[in-house]
Amino acid sequence: MKKILVANRGEIALRIMKTAKKMGIKTVAIFSTADRNAPHVTFADEAVCIGNPPSNQSYLLGDKIIKVAKDLQADAIHPGYGFLSENAEFAQAVEDNNLIFIGPKSESIKTMGSKLAAKDAVKHYNIPLVPGTEQAITDINEAKQIAKSIGFPILIKASAGGGGKGMRIVQSEKELEAQMKRAISEATSAFGDGSVFIEKYISSPRHIEIQILADTHGHTVHLFERECSIQRRHQKVIEEAPSSILTPELRDKMGEAAILVAKSCHYIGAGTVEFLLDDDNNFYFLEMNTRLQVEHPVTELITGLDLVELQIKIARGENIPFIQADLDITGHAVELRVYAEDPSNNFLPSVGLLKSYQLPEGNNIRVDNGFKQGMEVPIYYDPMLAKLITYGNTREEAILNMINAINQYKIEGVETTLGFGKFVFEHHAFRTGKFDTNFVNMYYAPELQKSEAETEAKLAALLALKQYQLDLKQVRLPNS
Ligand code: ADP
Repeated sequence: MKKILVANRGEIALRIMKTAKKMGIKTVAIFSTADRNAPHVTFADEAVCIGNPPSNQSYLLGDKIIKVAKDLQADAIHPGYGFLSENAEFAQAVEDNNLIFIGPKSESIKTMGSKLAAKDAVKHYNIPLVPGTEQAITDINEAKQIAKSIGFPILIKASAGGGGKGMRIVQSEKELEAQMKRAISEATSAFGDGSVFIEKYISSPRHIEIQILADTHGHTVHLFERECSIQRRHQKVIEEAPSSILTPELRDKMGEAAILVAKSCHYIGAGTVEFLLDDDNNFYFLEMNTRLQVEHPVTELITGLDLVELQIKIARGENIPFIQADLDITGHAVELRVYAEDPSNNFLPSVGLLKSYQLPEGNNIRVDNGFKQGMEVPIYYDPMLAKLITYGNTREEAILNMINAINQYKIEGVETTLGFGKFVFEHHAFRTGKFDTNFVNMYYAPELQKSEAETEAKLAALLALKQYQLDLKQVRLPNS
């Protein structure tokens, strides 16, 4: 493999290219006119503009991207995450054009891309599933029966759903009909597939996922867990590895279950098996993400591995260069997704010009970044600017490094999740590991973040005043 086209943008495009460069592989960037000056474009060996800013006129144009790859004689395409990464037809088209798709086979993507097909695939492997329906459901009376037997609250989910979208919590029978209609119409317009199903709503779950790797020689291993329970709108914003609550026994059990899920769909490459863990430490299979995950760096920091390098090696047909028994967890890593979002306005995107953009630096601080000062944050894409990841020998050390790194970060021009992140990392519930996916709803209010910032500002002003008075005293000393 001599040349890879990276069919993505932002931090992940850059992150993939850095590993390719390390491995002596040339890279091709693609970009929309909105990303002309983006770091991933300047970093690549070659770069091709593929269209206008909206994704469906640029980053989602599979055929055009394949043509660019062929014209520039690339051997492979890395899809990153989002965009075409979980598009089974695209993966197939890449292979049909004699290019290597750095990811699983089209069939595996298809199976795991549908939550219902995924549940069906793992059924024979004794994997615990959240109680619920196995088929898409359209009949309201049937839905009522099922909901009653599961017990409210229940969750209506879109089979094709993703990114936390297409989910509706139903508290009681009288809401069921209206919510189901809404869910079907949302699923149809958002995913072009109106299939919905019912799941028991686990009331205070933790989101624990297992990173797996599978090669073309039949070896599958897991690289332990990531905890992703700090979410807003059912979407992750803070992650860590390892989880603060998993025992070695539970870790082994979940790891083995994840390997079986991968086997159930003949998985190849790097993938993530997501589980919910309830109060009594029962875990349930949620879904499998058939790509590199946003939060993969925390796994890299605790294992010392480069997941993109392993993806490339597997795509070249090489063996995974270790076995399960070789793997160990060393230290602890935490990650904050730095989004251009306004936490005081329900985490809505906050786009604009990055007037000031300075990243933290130091030991045990990693920033996977896709922006630079003077750039506009476009409205067309996911508003994540960067990921801030810190490492420590212990969880507490990783968190303290994180807080220091957040304090060093300087972004002006857009609102971000940095202050929110600091709020979480300083929070008692997070520090003591006693939290679940309801953390944001339970503890976070923008005023709290503000009052914290105000207290800090007041404290800083008082300290400055004290210093000033001390300085004055010192100046006066010789005369007194
Ligand atoms: P998506 O594909 O949209 O990311 P997931 O099925 O992975 O959807 O779920 C995303 C998040 O939604 C989970 O991490 C969890 O917080 C919440 N969730 C999903 N299913 C349930 C459930 N049955 N009970 C409680 N929370 C759930």
